[in-house]
Amino acid sequence: MEAKELMEKAVRFHGHICPGLTIGVLAAKYMLDQGYAYSPNEELVAIVENDNCSVDALQAILGTTFGKGNLIHKDYGKNNFTFYDRRTEKGVRLSIKIRKSRDKKLTRDEKVQFLLNSKPEDIFNINDIDYNPPGLAQIEESRPCELCGEITMVSRLMIYNNSEMCIPCYRKTRK
Ligand SMILES: [Zn+2]
Ligand SMILES: [Zn+2]
Repeated sequence: MEAKELMEKAVRFHGHICPGLTIGVLAAKYMLDQGYAYSPNEELVAIVENDNCSVDALQAILGTTFGKGNLIHKDYGKNNFTFYDRRTEKGVRLSIKIRKSRDKKLTRDEKVQFLLNSKPEDIFNINDIDYNPPGLAQIEESRPCELCGEITMVSRLMIYNNSEMCIPCYRKTRK
């Protein structure tokens, strides 16, 4: 698919056109062009290091989504995208290159156009990496929090004063 069509698909999901989304579209397009296919299940995993607009393009175009567990957020504040494909056992990492200062003079629309006309290699450092995917999403038991009663995944329950409690209740209790 052409960048323009992918952009339209991403905008339908994201809600607006912006440079951040465009960066995600370019990353997703690069992946498709390399033969990495859309992921209906957890075949493809994306590890993203930010939670900005770009991530929505990956969800819309590659099917690496928060709900399926094949989108993993590491809160590092970087525009880096790491992908592992369980079908081909390949991995690739895209990290954004330092933007030239002349970009600053561009309007928002101009930035989007500039990005859409760029080659992935102009925007990202791209490296094939060893295949080392995170585990598949697990279905785990849940129990009620002893304080608020809300059903909580066991791995997120905290024990404090001999009570099993959810994270918000734990934080309130410790104040
Ligand atoms: Zn946006
Ligand atoms: Zn609670």
